[in-house]
Amino acid sequence: MSGLYIHIPFCKKACFYCDFHFSVSFSMKEKMISTIIDELTFRKDFFDPNDRISSIYFGGGTPSVLSMQEIDKILGTVFNYYLVDKNVEITFECNPDDLDKEYLKGLKFVGVNRLSIGVQSFNDEHLKWMNRSHNANQSLKCLETAAQIGLKNISIDLIYGLPHLSDDEWYKTVNQAFNMPINHLSAYILTMEENTPYIKLVNQGKYDKPNDDISSKHYQILVQLSNEFRWEHYEVSSFCKPSNYSRHNSSYWNGKKYLGVGPSAHSFDSKIRYWNVSSNKSYLEYVPSRENFFESEELNISNRLNENIMTGLRTKWGIDLGKLSKDYKYDISNLFHDDIKYWVSLDWVEIKDSNMRLTDEGMLFADHIASTLFMN
Ligand code: SF4
Repeated sequence: MSGLYIHIPFCKKACFYCDFHFSVSFSMKEKMISTIIDELTFRKDFFDPNDRISSIYFGGGTPSVLSMQEIDKILGTVFNYYLVDKNVEITFECNPDDLDKEYLKGLKFVGVNRLSIGVQSFNDEHLKWMNRSHNANQSLKCLETAAQIGLKNISIDLIYGLPHLSDDEWYKTVNQAFNMPINHLSAYILTMEENTPYIKLVNQGKYDKPNDDISSKHYQILVQLSNEFRWEHYEVSSFCKPSNYSRHNSSYWNGKKYLGVGPSAHSFDSKIRYWNVSSNKSYLEYVPSRENFFESEELNISNRLNENIMTGLRTKWGIDLGKLSKDYKYDISNLFHDDIKYWVSLDWVEIKDSNMRLTDEGMLFADHIASTLFMN
């Protein structure tokens, strides 16, 4: 089972913390859609003839800037050129201000069966601070409408660790989210990424930096409420009602094959990683010639092992030490015995039989713990 990712590189406004690839100019939108469709047609051989697509993911940018005709045309191309599983998960990332009743009905009609809505906060002041294009009321309204028209598979995104977001308000936000008609929550810590307006505003002294103590307190609240509501915390930033995992994201973590089309999209064919050029202009220029629109890197054994460790430790399933030892001749439990003992004593790591996983507390340090176990 394989995944297909479609990157729509346009947004109405630039959220100040965002380092994804997008443009706020829509002048090339029409040409972009036809070029993405072109890329879809000539990259179909990325998959073997028997590979079935089990998840399609519209990400961005903001896919909900697309018209229904454009979405229908893209999906029509996918169904014409690829072998698509009949129970395919089709996720559509969207912003609340785009989701009126007619648009939501249209999405359902063209076959979208999972929404990922960028709610981020239920507080208008915080939304303004982040330069989001929507307000809290639009989020509440679109969630209510989606439920009314029978869209049941809904994920929302929230951001925590904002320097002025109190613990009490974050508690209320998460509590409100878990009481909504959704089955999945992705919650991200605010970070300062290179080349974002946020880092510039911090450097100019106009905005505060994120604070680790605030972020970790917010994380504890999130995990506590997730447990109280009996949701599953199945990946560092991902929570769901029992077994309502994101099929598409899980395929990344499980090392499955996926093709990404559109500027900046990444692909993986089990051995080689590919990434498309992160510029709308270059993408439109190069794709028609079929040249120079992506770069690639063949993963060597240590890259593959390190990715297994990193992605495995970020999930609640952890890593199978016996399998790593068999597949890569790399016996982590012997090589890092003292480090692992220390983390176990801090209650960050649990080892049962041959499985190593991070506790809820350890997950906050997942990337650091994983990096110390890497093969050089
Ligand atoms: S809408 Fe999403 S992709 Fe666009 S700027 Fe905001 S966070 Fe980034």
